Amino acid sequence: MKRKLIAGNWKMNGGLAANETLLRAIVAGLPAQAACDIAVAVPSPYLAQVQALTAGTSVAVGAQDVSTHEAGAYTGEVSAAMLRDFGVRYALVGHSERRQYHAESDAVVAAKAQRALAAGITPVVCVGETLAEREAGQTEQVVRRQLAAVIHVNGHCISEIVVAYEPVWAIGTGRTATPEQAQAVHAVLRAQLAAATEHAARMRILYGGSMNATNAADLLAQPDIDGGLIGGASLKAPDFLHIIAAAA
Ligand code: PGA
Repeated sequence: MKRKLIAGNWKMNGGLAANETLLRAIVAGLPAQAACDIAVAVPSPYLAQVQALTAGTSVAVGAQDVSTHEAGAYTGEVSAAMLRDFGVRYALVGHSERRQYHAESDAVVAAKAQRALAAGITPVVCVGETLAEREAGQTEQVVRRQLAAVIHVNGHCISEIVVAYEPVWAIGTGRTATPEQAQAVHAVLRAQLAAATEHAARMRILYGGSMNATNAADLLAQPDIDGGLIGGASLKAPDFLHIIAAAA
C-alpha cells in the first residue's frame, strides 16, 4: 500500500532555538509507528542541526531548493551532493516562490529535479496555477506544461519523483482549494504520469496551499491526494501532528 507523505516547508523561518523547540515537540508527539512518511524541508544553514535532532526518528530531512550545477564557481548555490552529505532525502524544486521571485523556468526546475535524482535525493516537483490562470481557464494547461518539462528531461527515472500540486492562490492565503478542486487537478496529473510511466499509480502527488489541521482530513481522503506539502501549519507542532494523524 502507498504511504502518504506529509512534508513541512518551513520556508525562510526558524532559528537554532525555535527549530529545536519545534522538532522536539513534533518528535515527542509522533506515534511509535507513524502511518505516513514525514519530512521537514528546512533552510540550508540548519541542515546539520535538523539532521542531528531527527536522527533515529521517522522524520526525514528535506531541502527547499538545489542547484542546477554539480560544483564550481556558483556563488551562493548549494549542490545536491552537499545536501546528501547532511542526509537530505527530499528537495523541493520549482516551488512557486522560486518560480516567481527567482524567475525559475520550467527548464531550470527540470534541471534541478535531475540533479537531485542523480544524487539519490527525491525531488518534490511543485506545480500550480496563479489565480489569473485559473480564472482564465488555464489551470490544466499550466500544470501539464510544468510537469511535462520534468517528465521529458528525466525520462526513465520519472517514477522516482514526488509531485506537489500547489495552486499559487492558495499558498499562505488561508484560501484552500476544495477537496474537489484539488482532486480534479490531481487526476489530470496522475493521467499525465500514467502516460509516461507504468508506475504512476504508486507515485505520490501531494496537495499544498493552506492545508491545516481542520481541512487536512478531507483533502487527504481524495483518491489522488497522496499527502501534503505544508507551509504555515508545519511551524506549529500541534497542527503538524494533527495533519500527520489525518494521513493515517
Ligand atoms: P502554506 O504553504 O501551507 O502556508 O499555504 C504551502 C507551501 O507553500 O508549500
